[in-house]
Amino acid sequence: MTSTMMDVPLSVRRLLEHGATIHGGSRVVTATDSGPHEVRFRDIARGAARLAGALASLGVKPGDRVATFMWNNHRHVEAYFAVPAMGAVLHPLNIRLFPEQIAFIANHAADRVVIVDASLLPGFAKLLPALKSVRHVIVAGQADRAVLDGSGVGVYDYETLLAAQHQTYDWPDVDERSAAAMCYTSGTTGHPKGVVYSHRSIYLHALAEAMPDVFDLSARDLLLTVVPQFHVLAWGLPYAAFGTGTSLAMPDRFLTPAPLAAFIAAAQPNKGAGVPTVWIGLLQYLEANPDVDVSSLTEVVVGGSAMSETLMRTLDERGIRGLHAWGMTEMSPLGTFSRPPVDAADEDVDGYRLAQGRFVAPVEARLVGFDGDEVGWDGESVGELQVRGPWITGSYYLEKDDEDEHFDEGWLRTGDVGSVTPDGYLRLTDRARDVIKSGGEWISSVELEGHLAAHPAVVEAAVVGVPDETWGERPLATVVVKDGAEVDVAELREFLSSKVAKWQLPERWAVVPEIPKTSVGKFDKKIIRAAYAHDDLN
Ligand code: ADP
Repeated sequence: MTSTMMDVPLSVRRLLEHGATIHGGSRVVTATDSGPHEVRFRDIARGAARLAGALASLGVKPGDRVATFMWNNHRHVEAYFAVPAMGAVLHPLNIRLFPEQIAFIANHAADRVVIVDASLLPGFAKLLPALKSVRHVIVAGQADRAVLDGSGVGVYDYETLLAAQHQTYDWPDVDERSAAAMCYTSGTTGHPKGVVYSHRSIYLHALAEAMPDVFDLSARDLLLTVVPQFHVLAWGLPYAAFGTGTSLAMPDRFLTPAPLAAFIAAAQPNKGAGVPTVWIGLLQYLEANPDVDVSSLTEVVVGGSAMSETLMRTLDERGIRGLHAWGMTEMSPLGTFSRPPVDAADEDVDGYRLAQGRFVAPVEARLVGFDGDEVGWDGESVGELQVRGPWITGSYYLEKDDEDEHFDEGWLRTGDVGSVTPDGYLRLTDRARDVIKSGGEWISSVELEGHLAAHPAVVEAAVVGVPDETWGERPLATVVVKDGAEVDVAELREFLSSKVAKWQLPERWAVVPEIPKTSVGKFDKKIIRAAYAHDDLN
């Protein structure tokens, strides 16, 4: 029996039109040199229509890739809607990658047009000769566009180009399964791989993300979106915002603690989303600058890496509730969210918040042990996490060679290792490649890092496995100590020995000025291992 329901495609255009009309008064607040700058969703919709007109006038056709090289700001939000809604494919480039990686990615995706923030133009100009498929560059904001002279591509000023266009656009009907946007993994292992999101996947992800037991988004919220728009579509939050009327506070390039704190004080967001390092930096700054008022902020979502217990407690002390979201580029990115169950006993609540969280419908998950058999959800047995669902990629863009490594009979192999409780709470213990394999036993680097970070003199700690003749691998702990704190390695080892089994205690230690981070703020364990191999950590 077939249903009687209309077959209406789920599309980015629909999110745009809904946000622009039903929530036309919701705001996008962007940090600027002269304080917060505000536009309404209805303005974004007009800008998006003009941008689509401008792109069409440059010859952009359905399926063409339009890249962005931008911070989080209102123009970037316009591009988020204009490009997919006109049937083209949005491709935010990660501005923090090495130039060779950016060129590899832009060439692989065959980007035709790039929209560049004026503040990023000097770096982009150096990159441009390596971008083979780019024909047009649109510069957003005041900049000396002469740096692009002689590049052989069309160069335009964003506002001038848009001013020549209508504030409405005849949006096409697009197949909900067609490409709307693409992102590349950060290439923590191997070269970056492309993931192509559909209109349908973006739409479904946006709705699920907004649900009360997930981000709990509504028109009453102003969401500080620190997670970059150039990484996994800012966790899809701009799309969820248009679906729900959630206003967005966009920090643009003001991401270091002092200007970020000033932006929070001025714009007064009540929720936030970002990686742990952002919140750690902010909290440290606030400790030294107690006069900055960030009391509007009551809940932050922490994702991308694990939130340590120390981070959760320090946020708590400021009246900010930290909650975990887990996911990955391949998953749009949402997989789990750590809101505790309503009937959780008081003493269990924090444990739930520290877990990665419960799977969000309709994401399905299974744990696969290292012998290839499925592992039960008993809260203890550990395996590799595999997932499937309508916003999870089933392949990589133009990659066929290593499919077996990443997919298993229709499931995505996440490379994350952990356990799941009977009521579906995921607790990650490590990434498969970061687990320390010591004499047939497994040591969780994440667990050691969490304990070390709880020491009052420690700012952050990263633990990696390094080769060991007797045990195969042993942990190496690298630690950043607070300014002025007196602590030695023997004390840290002693501290750790009260928390983990003796055989897990690292013999190798390095106190370092900072932990190397990837382009999206995660510990770059590859660099730590290389530094150790080159004797640079003594
Ligand atoms: P990349 O894989 O290129 O580093 P992603 O941002 O897609 O980029 O990273 C996804 C990975 O980040 C996950 O597989 C997981 O290991 C880690 N991660 C994401 N969120 C969390 C979280 N809340 N807790 C712990 N690890 C997380």
